[in-house]
Amino acid sequence: MECVLDAKAELGEGPVWDPVAACLYFVDITAGLVHRYDPETRSTRALPAGTMVGAVALSVAGDLLLAVRDGFIRLDPATGLTRKIADVEADRPDQRMNDGKCDSFGRFWAGTMAIDERPAAGALYRLDADGRVHTMLEHVTISNGIDWSDDGRLMYYVDTPTGSIDVFDFDVADGSIANRRSVTRVEAGAGWPDGLTLDAEGYLWVALWSGGAVRRYSPDGVLDRVVPVPVSHPTSCTFGGADFGDLYITSASCALTPEARLQQPLAGGLFRCRPGVCGRPAHRFRG
Ligand code: CA
Repeated sequence: MECVLDAKAELGEGPVWDPVAACLYFVDITAGLVHRYDPETRSTRALPAGTMVGAVALSVAGDLLLAVRDGFIRLDPATGLTRKIADVEADRPDQRMNDGKCDSFGRFWAGTMAIDERPAAGALYRLDADGRVHTMLEHVTISNGIDWSDDGRLMYYVDTPTGSIDVFDFDVADGSIANRRSVTRVEAGAGWPDGLTLDAEGYLWVALWSGGAVRRYSPDGVLDRVVPVPVSHPTSCTFGGADFGDLYITSASCALTPEARLQQPLAGGLFRCRPGVCGRPAHRFRG
């Protein structure tokens, strides 16, 4: 496990690999930044979102789609210009958007949470290519990791305080979800499930907030592997690199006490390891 970028993020999140540009995008939610990391040159660029930004997705048009505090915006990484395309809970300044990802049909799913994390105040939304926003799930507390099986039949999802990784039956044709159930629960004391990604074998990789590790679970929830991370608050992970064999892990520093910050100087950094399995390319927004 290597810290490839000492990003000093407050709340690093939402990594996504762009195989065309061979770079990794991730966000610093509370700082309102989209980071672009190029592993070949080890260079980085920070693009301001203009507001808190919970997630970033690639698009077929070549720009980026962001889930920001009050909705969805597009960001042109070449110019840095942003454009709002849809409001989400824009009348609720005590809420913000959080984690999100595109499904194989090119819809962008992202959820919300109360900034004070009060229970059941958030929801999960689906932005379609036509720009319409649909509410898919209500009474969510901290909407977090999301990904789909490659056969398009399952959607995995985390509402962090439940401690559970859940799965829905997914209908890729109409984008509906049904029959929610728990795949596995992270045991007390091991941290809280946060961002997740599936690998090419259909196994789940989940970052454990306050757990200092990422874990790999089988599709039916059997713990396969624990990969320690040298910071207590990893937040999310994704595969990247030319062969999709690099596992990138984001992390946060905002939850640490001053003493813990001294003990974890790399908190907020971007980490990478090669676990010996590969991931898959991210889907792009088709709007
Ligand atoms: Ca998260």
